[in-house]
Amino acid sequence: MTKDYYKILGVSENCTESELKSAYRKLARKWHPDIAGNTNDIVAKFKEINEAYEVLSDKVKKAEYDTINRYYNYSSDKKSTGTTEPNFKNTKANSTKKTEHEKSAGFNFNWEEFLSKYKDYTNKYQEARKKENEYKKQNTNAKYGNSKRGKDINTDVEITIAEAINGCTKVINMLNTNVCPYCNGRKFINGTICPHCKGNGETSDYKRFSVKIPAGVKDNSKIRLSGEGNRGLNGGKNGDLYITVHIKSPLDYKTEGNNVLKTITLAPYEAVLGGNISVKTFDGNINVKITPNTQNGQKIRLSGCGINVNGKIGDMILTVEIQVPKNLSSDEIELYRKLRDISSQNVR
Ligand SMILES: [Zn+2]
Repeated sequence: MTKDYYKILGVSENCTESELKSAYRKLARKWHPDIAGNTNDIVAKFKEINEAYEVLSDKVKKAEYDTINRYYNYSSDKKSTGTTEPNFKNTKANSTKKTEHEKSAGFNFNWEEFLSKYKDYTNKYQEARKKENEYKKQNTNAKYGNSKRGKDINTDVEITIAEAINGCTKVINMLNTNVCPYCNGRKFINGTICPHCKGNGETSDYKRFSVKIPAGVKDNSKIRLSGEGNRGLNGGKNGDLYITVHIKSPLDYKTEGNNVLKTITLAPYEAVLGGNISVKTFDGNINVKITPNTQNGQKIRLSGCGINVNGKIGDMILTVEIQVPKNLSSDEIELYRKLRDISSQNVR
């Protein structure tokens, strides 16, 4: 049955809030089942009054109700038909010849069902529009604007002095994280989780670089690999990869051109008597002969044990440092006493 809430409460469409309230109170008192009697008809009437007031007293509900009423004009001409029937303002069909549409819309019209369907439709429509806009934005970004240059990446590589002098090629393994190229970092594609990055918005992969380090490279210098940084977005340029070269500072030698300079320590008796000692070179340990009566600061040249610079191999130059052993035993000290007593030479 069609319900005209204004008619039910006996108010006009333009009534004030207080007029509405007072009309409702009068009717609610009059038709309250406790007063009017607890019959089915009276209960139904009472419910109808409350329903009408619930809609018309709520600004949002009233606005929706009025909106729908702009499409349907409820005839109040009970004298001619005896019933409340819809009369379409916009149709030219006369009252004697009703269309199917009019009939179906007019009779069995359930306001609440209509309203809930209307709301449902509105929500779905808005949702669809939102998704559509998101999709459009995504595609627009992909095709045109918002191009973004990828980030630069910094990494380090450690090389030896020999490698720094000669130049070398180093392989660098790097974990490279990029914005997902499928969803552009949005994690979702058309409302579903991006299958490529599984909703992470970015992808990580190991990248191997072969980096040629030029001969004569200085410590802490940077090598730039153009375009090897993070991927650019929407046609933006890739970032660059910067490799900082660290030259391992050796603990036990210095270099001078292609020569290696090293200090060796000898005990006093080794310096006096001579002998063989083991010295570490690039090709492993080698035996070095110490000639008798070797002096402190004396240099020993090991030919061909230096660094290879452009095919020319340098030497290793050892500088002797005579060191008096600590914590000598009493026997050793006794022998030094004897040595002092019998010594015929004055070193000064
Ligand atoms: Zn993705």
